[in-house]
Amino acid sequence: MPKTPCDAVRNFIGGKFVPSAGTRKRDIVSPLDGTVVSSVDLSCAADLDRAVAAAKKAFTAWSSTPIKARAQVFYAYKRLLEKNIDDLAECIRVEHGKTLEEAAGEVEKGIEVTEFACSLPQIVPGEGLEVTRGITCHYDRVPLGVVSSIVPFNFPVMVPHWTLPIAIMLGNSFILKPSEQVPMSSAKVAALLKEAGLPDGVFNAVNGDREIVEEICDHPDIRAVSFVGSTNVAKAVYARATAHYKRALCLGGAKNHCFLLPDAHPEMSARNITASFAGCTGQRCMALSVLLAVGPVDDTIKKICGEAAKLIPGKTLGPVISRAAKDRIIGYIDGAEKAGAKVILDGRKAKIEGDLNGYYLGPTVIDQVTPDMKVAREEIFGPVLSIIRVENIHEGLRIENTHPCGNAASVFTQNGALAEEIMRNVSSGMNGVNIGVPVPREPFAFGGWNDSKFGAGDITGKSSITFWTQDKKITVKWNPEAGHDWMS
Ligand code: NAD
Repeated sequence: MPKTPCDAVRNFIGGKFVPSAGTRKRDIVSPLDGTVVSSVDLSCAADLDRAVAAAKKAFTAWSSTPIKARAQVFYAYKRLLEKNIDDLAECIRVEHGKTLEEAAGEVEKGIEVTEFACSLPQIVPGEGLEVTRGITCHYDRVPLGVVSSIVPFNFPVMVPHWTLPIAIMLGNSFILKPSEQVPMSSAKVAALLKEAGLPDGVFNAVNGDREIVEEICDHPDIRAVSFVGSTNVAKAVYARATAHYKRALCLGGAKNHCFLLPDAHPEMSARNITASFAGCTGQRCMALSVLLAVGPVDDTIKKICGEAAKLIPGKTLGPVISRAAKDRIIGYIDGAEKAGAKVILDGRKAKIEGDLNGYYLGPTVIDQVTPDMKVAREEIFGPVLSIIRVENIHEGLRIENTHPCGNAASVFTQNGALAEEIMRNVSSGMNGVNIGVPVPREPFAFGGWNDSKFGAGDITGKSSITFWTQDKKITVKWNPEAGHDWMS
């Protein structure tokens, strides 16, 4: 059950929580039981101007602080994240609904990216070379200035940490736009950054919805925009930010395919596939959503249904984010059934142990799906697995390759050659062999392909360093030419 309502969530600007200059607000509703647990200001242009002014003011001193000194702040911050993991996880549970274990897991992933950020002094020294006798060229990697990050609801702590530790460690000042559905965790993060010693104005959080996102894209003093969310919004943000000559990297939605081969280890595959499609109640851009069942794999499918049926909504499975999301997911299942698919595990009928006003839904497995059905084409973002039966891996690859998204793909098999063939030919950025959620661990970078990402590079890892900085090229000659003295 959510705890008592919290204070209204304010913007964090210049090191202080401040109310919005506007009047729009939104209730924060806990999906655990549908109660209002707080409210959040929906900011306007004046709020963003204030945040940008604070960030610009802080940039001068922060960007000229040596990177090793900046790292000390993030070492302290990492320790604070570790110390406060239970409090953060509880906050995530209340506003998002995921289980405490899942919530703590996402904080741990945020800590892992923070560790990567702490290692940047070892990774980013510029490069230099004596290019001809007496003349050297070198690169200085310098920050961009004020940068921003717009994030989705599904990982209230982890996704902001794909960007904030790296961008700030590299000397930028930063404006976070949390999801208006789950802004409470970001307020806690702001307070911890301050406690860690981050100077006021280096990190700011401006809450809001579409209006403030568009202001961010248009603002002349914001140099770069990173975005994580659904594909249509990612496309719109990418187009708008780049039209204003900003750097942009926009991660979109997903529809991840999983090849299940007849020689796959049945128990291990069933456990991993279930954890992937139903874990975090399917609200994960890395969730496997379409099972390409190659040949005779009924035994493993039966085991998947058995594993999934063990997940109890309200006990071991959280709710989905809103009533609208629950209705949308049920609509997909109803639609598939009407179109001729067979629901072999029905989450609509699952026994719920949580509050009956919560937005719970059990894991659902739909068999006999065809590639043209909505459940095979669209992102459901719920605990639903759609099974398409295919004759061979080539038919499966055609289906995977022609889907517009390309976040992740996996194969379950014991056959190395077939796994290699599938890995070589899938059209997705993050791929796994016998792995249900193939998230690359740091320092390997996170980022999909196709309609799952707009812009070059990845959001973490080495290419994030390129995204958040620019190289200054400096050529130096110290030997004066003959006949010239220092006055000439
Ligand atoms: P969303 O696109 O609705 O919202 C994302 C952000 O955009 C939020 O901060 C929101 O306030 C803002 N926003 C919403 N509508 C907008 C509009 N019309 N114009 C401008 N800004 C707008 O996404 P969500 O529902 O919060 O999150 C779920 C989605 O995020 C899923 O599609 C999921 O796959 C995707 N996601 C992708 C990744 C990835 O790495 N590719 C990671 C996590 C989530």
